[in-house]
Amino acid sequence: MRRTLVAGNWKMNGSRASVAELVDGLLAGAGTVASAEVAICPPHVFLAEVGARLDGGPVALGAQDLSEHVSGAYTGEIAGPMLAEYGCRYVIVGHSERRAYHGEDDALVARKLATAQAAGMIPIACVGETLEEREAGDTETVIGRQVDALLDGPGVVALASAVIAYEPVWAIGTGRTATPDQAQSVHAFIRGRIAARDAAIADGLRLLYGGSVKGANASELFAMQDIDGGLIGGASLDADEFLTICHAG
Ligand code: PEP
Repeated sequence: MRRTLVAGNWKMNGSRASVAELVDGLLAGAGTVASAEVAICPPHVFLAEVGARLDGGPVALGAQDLSEHVSGAYTGEIAGPMLAEYGCRYVIVGHSERRAYHGEDDALVARKLATAQAAGMIPIACVGETLEEREAGDTETVIGRQVDALLDGPGVVALASAVIAYEPVWAIGTGRTATPDQAQSVHAFIRGRIAARDAAIADGLRLLYGGSVKGANASELFAMQDIDGGLIGGASLDADEFLTICHAG
């Protein structure tokens, strides 16, 4: 049985004061979330402070990205072992904003997945098609290529301790959510692609949906057979809204 995961991606938002308030708001309600595992991914600079507030409680800590390198002359980057030392259980790799604005390609995302695991964290690897790709009928081609990069690089066994998030680029931050059927169809495709290499790993893999998930639409998405939770952007910046989503998990 796959345990639902609801992970909040705060992106580049917050101040020390607002982050403290948000975490306290989450902790006030997170104890009653029974069915889902909950994680939050603040900007790197807030990890130490947020980690101290979470203090091993019901909400896990995650990061939004990591370097593919473990240490060295990579100015401005953050290494996996550093994130692990600060208590990160999860780390997002290959978010579409990293792919689009930082030129991250499938091969780099695959290397980051392996680097995260080597540091003892669980990567949340993002895949997703653009609107142009969907409208051209290329969704499965694009998602297949992105998933194959993980299967051909780190390998199917690596996916036994990873999470994949399907995030259609056209649904991120746009208020336009994939319908449950649209999302389920891609999730089933991803699981099938992985099952072709290893059926047991595919069966145990948590597949999250991300893209304008809100308290009002989370239940119908999470009810789908192959949707095992969500990666939540904007709505994770509001404690009550995020907790509503967590309760839907
Ligand atoms: C995200 O940033 O991963 C995301 C899904 O954003 P939003 O929920 O705001 O669409």
